[in-house]
Amino acid sequence: MDLDRTYVVPSYRRYPLELVCGRGSEVTDRDGRVYIDLGSGLAVNTLGFSDPAWCEAVTAQLTTLQHSSNLYFTKPAAQLAEQLCLRSGMKKVFFSNSGAEANECAIKAARKYAELHYPGQRDLIVTLRNSFHGRTLATLAATGQSSFHQEFLPLTPGFESCEPSIEHVCNIVEKGQVAAFLIEIVQGEGGVVVLDPAFVRQLASLAAENDILLIADEVQTGAGRTGKLFAYMHTGITPDIVSTAKGLSGGLPLGATLFGEKTADVLGPGSHGSTFGGNPVAAAGALHVLSRLDDDLLHEVESKSAYIRDTLSSARGIIAVTGIGLMIGIKTVRPAALVIDACREAGVIVLQAKDRIRLLPALNIPWPLLKKAIRVVADAADETGKAASGV
Ligand SMILES: *Cc1c(COP(=O)(O)O)cnc(C)c1O
Repeated sequence: MDLDRTYVVPSYRRYPLELVCGRGSEVTDRDGRVYIDLGSGLAVNTLGFSDPAWCEAVTAQLTTLQHSSNLYFTKPAAQLAEQLCLRSGMKKVFFSNSGAEANECAIKAARKYAELHYPGQRDLIVTLRNSFHGRTLATLAATGQSSFHQEFLPLTPGFESCEPSIEHVCNIVEKGQVAAFLIEIVQGEGGVVVLDPAFVRQLASLAAENDILLIADEVQTGAGRTGKLFAYMHTGITPDIVSTAKGLSGGLPLGATLFGEKTADVLGPGSHGSTFGGNPVAAAGALHVLSRLDDDLLHEVESKSAYIRDTLSSARGIIAVTGIGLMIGIKTVRPAALVIDACREAGVIVLQAKDRIRLLPALNIPWPLLKKAIRVVADAADETGKAASGV
């Protein structure tokens, strides 16, 4: 902690916890204390910490060929692109290393599509209030929360955020400058806010009627997090572009931008690139994650979700439970930060999003650990101050 405070840029507010090793949904700190993890390193560790079969798949690739650059073909990335397309109906994939980069790629492709089809006319990307799309300058501009913008002006132009209401969106579309809509089906950083599926469908129709591209930012909601491979699959729509990252490789940096029929060939030779993108080790991790994300695991996500909601929505001190699958937001009477500290002191790691507690457990968290941890969350939320039961 001292080294970090001395030498690492203090851009993160860290919890006073140094994590040393983990297995499954349990993680150990430097004092040997074991915690049940309901955060998955921000929805990254899809299969928990150091899942044995995942480690084997990653290690096999690591000790065979760890990197090649995109000057050459490698099998893991090609197979991963195939899997992503077969399972989503999308046509082509571009690989990068993070969520922000996956969105940058989507934005570049949308700009290029508009320039090819409507030269000089459409340069606007419409996003939603309270959204989060990343920390690069373009994805910050896309992020519909001005608190992230201050001190970094001027941002990349060509973005406008609006309320999630079809009337507002129509008003903007009428100006004739809109190239794309960029939306999160569930706003994660925004407090686990689920968009109204009817609004999503209206937006998709509006996009299709006007040849506006619909981009789904599935950076947090991908990789089975919501009980389907991608959250848009709950709504019945098909986006033109899907960006994803966090949980895709189960703990290694990997971003992917998926392109549908209209956009599959927009980015031609030389138009975009990434040195690390599609790294064989990260791709091997993702291939393994996808092989595990079968119907059984996705059903388990649904039943664990139902258990969490049922248990917490009737608990004292809890005002509301939002989210889908294993992406859960909890509004408590007590301030979220206090509940989070109480959970940690009782041996359970949870996250915050805005004024809510956020749960993003590993999809394969064992039932007994989940039940124990949810009991702790319920006790910590109880404003009567009943001591949280230790784990
Ligand atoms: C986390 C997140 C991002 C940014 O991903 P990074 O990997 O941190 O760049 C973008 N969009 C959404 C919806 C996210 O949750």
